[in-house]
Amino acid sequence: MREYLRDIVKCVKCGRCRTVCPTQQVQGWESSGPRGRMQMALGMASGLEPSNSLITSILTCTTCQQCVTECPSGADPHQVTRAVRRELVALGHIAPHQIEMQERIRNTGNSLGDRSSRTAWLSETPVRGHSEYVYFAGCLASYRYQSTAAATYGILGKLGVGFLEDEQCCGSPLFRMGLDASDLIAHNSRQIKAAGAHTVIVGCAGCYSMLREQYQGFNVLHLSEFLEERLDALSAGRLDIQVAYHDPCHLGRAYGIYDAPRKVIEEICTLVEMDASREKASCCGGGGGVRLGYPELSGSMAGELKENIPAGVDYVVTSCPLCFRNLSDTGVKMLDLADLVWMAIE
Ligand code: SF4
Ligand code: SF4
Repeated sequence: MREYLRDIVKCVKCGRCRTVCPTQQVQGWESSGPRGRMQMALGMASGLEPSNSLITSILTCTTCQQCVTECPSGADPHQVTRAVRRELVALGHIAPHQIEMQERIRNTGNSLGDRSSRTAWLSETPVRGHSEYVYFAGCLASYRYQSTAAATYGILGKLGVGFLEDEQCCGSPLFRMGLDASDLIAHNSRQIKAAGAHTVIVGCAGCYSMLREQYQGFNVLHLSEFLEERLDALSAGRLDIQVAYHDPCHLGRAYGIYDAPRKVIEEICTLVEMDASREKASCCGGGGGVRLGYPELSGSMAGELKENIPAGVDYVVTSCPLCFRNLSDTGVKMLDLADLVWMAIE
């Protein structure tokens, strides 16, 4: 923790981050927001024993990075909170939902704990062998949104993108909760190397962020970045619908990928901006293990985001299956970007 002291003291306690933090918006307490979390981190760095309320506060951060965008003094409560999570794990403070996620992945290689085939969504046997570009599907598409995985691979297959023989969870759910994901990183890295790929293409914002941040030796492109350069080759038709685009935190604020998905959408149909979008986009409340560990809080954050959806749109499009799931649960009609493209080229 001590290596984060410099980051912690950057906080001048102005409170600006409190106005945007989704957990503080719902819960209201100082301890449920970034400024409070920074003070808790300071206490931990000074050797204080973590209390149960500190642990809950640290584990309810969705890792959305809205605090980072707003902070006028360059402090990064998001990184500090992640460091506290790692420290809590090192001290043996592991919450039941963290243990559950570890068990699911240890037993099945995926974050759902699903023992069925990861590639049940494949409609035909993929072409084996080396590919310069490969598709990384992610756990949620592979098991819960199989039509999205099939649509993504259907699109990418037309563009010569290959397939990973034995993909496992990218490790993001463990990593975001302060747990060790090194075995998964090693396993997937071997798969990508064996495929001979120089670039991995990802449809999920969480996988994208994990591969960019924690893997080495290859390029990572989000599906929208790959497609924006190849729209002509897709021969997509126009759909008579209006959609809004929800910027996933781990694609937008984390990596600045705002224009590529919009370019793809505008090629296909009418895009209407959310009331708060791009770097101001609200968090769906699902990330950082919050949906798993604190479902009621997570649902409340999704409910707040729902207020930003402009009236009259047919769908909200996104590029993150976790945002898709959390917002769908509030009754919003969602479409993954891949599903939208697939509708336009089918
Ligand atoms: S906005 Fe930055 S300086 Fe202000 S309270 Fe939050 S972390 Fe501290
Ligand atoms: S990352 Fe998001 S949830 Fe976490 S403290 Fe910052 S604003 Fe709040």
